[in-house]
Amino acid sequence: MHGSRFEDALQKAPATKVELLARLIREINPRARITCIQGNILDDVVLDALLECDLLLGCTDSQHGRAALGDIAAHYLLPSIDVGVTVAAKAGKLKAQIVEICRHSPQLPCPFCLGRIDANLLSFELMTEEERSQRRQVAAAAEAEGIDGRAYWVGDPAPELTVGYLTTLAGSLAAGYAENLLMGAAEMPHQRFQFDVGLPRFGFNPVEKPRNPDCSCGKTIGYADQARADRSVSRPAHWPQPRILESPSAVSPCACAEFQKKLKNGVEYQLNMLYVGGTMEATFGQMLRELRRSKNVSQRDLAAKVGVDFSYISKLENDRLPPPAADTVMKICQALDSEPDALLSVTGKVPSDVKEMLTGNPSALQFVREAQRMGLASSDWDRLGRTLRRLRKG
Ligand SMILES: [Zn+2]
Repeated sequence: MHGSRFEDALQKAPATKVELLARLIREINPRARITCIQGNILDDVVLDALLECDLLLGCTDSQHGRAALGDIAAHYLLPSIDVGVTVAAKAGKLKAQIVEICRHSPQLPCPFCLGRIDANLLSFELMTEEERSQRRQVAAAAEAEGIDGRAYWVGDPAPELTVGYLTTLAGSLAAGYAENLLMGAAEMPHQRFQFDVGLPRFGFNPVEKPRNPDCSCGKTIGYADQARADRSVSRPAHWPQPRILESPSAVSPCACAEFQKKLKNGVEYQLNMLYVGGTMEATFGQMLRELRRSKNVSQRDLAAKVGVDFSYISKLENDRLPPPAADTVMKICQALDSEPDALLSVTGKVPSDVKEMLTGNPSALQFVREAQRMGLASSDWDRLGRTLRRLRKG
């Protein structure tokens, strides 16, 4: 997969796809706001996170994933661009190398109307293993009696092939279309189109269809959760629960300083163009929200633990209030059972006990000044901390 390295394959516990992608993003922008969820688009936790976005990029190879993108566009007015690739080969020769790009938007026909959903594959994805084997048996029994068994089982789906050059091509194109749509710079040429990189003129093929008047996608536009009953697909109970992975957004101020320096020198400017304006830099509110969610604590529970009104937490998370005093940040982090340093570094405030320690002790202040003059990097501070702890133990 794009962004993975040889050493990743050697790991005993391989990283998840989202973790590898998080690493790639962080290497480009250490302050990018990243939420890593190992889950499915049909999980409510995932939906909640997606609904914070302006546009989704889908690279789903599942039927239910496609169907859900249509539901989300129609019911929550959240558009998406979905890409897919497929290859076919015969006798050692590639016969097809196809990229498909499709846009979903509240006013456009859904994946069902467009004929993007294979009903057999969709039901296969949602079944339990038990159900699958039962259906195989019933189909075999029917065939034995001379009855067409396909009503029960159409056969196992062919394995999906992943082709690096095609997926990277499709993903880059979709990212460009997304950027242009968000900035109003350009539209896509068609709602849905396919091309084959091995054919003359790329075999360009627009696949546009009108909305099916009987489809629910045109009836419940903007109904959000009220349209749950109209969703084309919902999460089967036997699927594993989603998991929000440790938030990787917290970085040391030092890494950010290095990043800023690189930016000033013009390095990686092209790649970072979008967030030079600061749109993707994690604010205090965003970091707080991610931290709270990663600990599975609701705003109300956190507010109760800290002893503040829950609307206060909500305002903080939406950055409608400036970050609180350092001591409140400490209390919040304590309630979330988490180290306060990353959040504190965003507020630029120092907890009162640390302040007292520094102002009441000239030697301590001198020590910090000395460290400042030496321009210690965060790795130096880490080493210093370890040395101090060793000295204390010894
Ligand atoms: Zn439809």
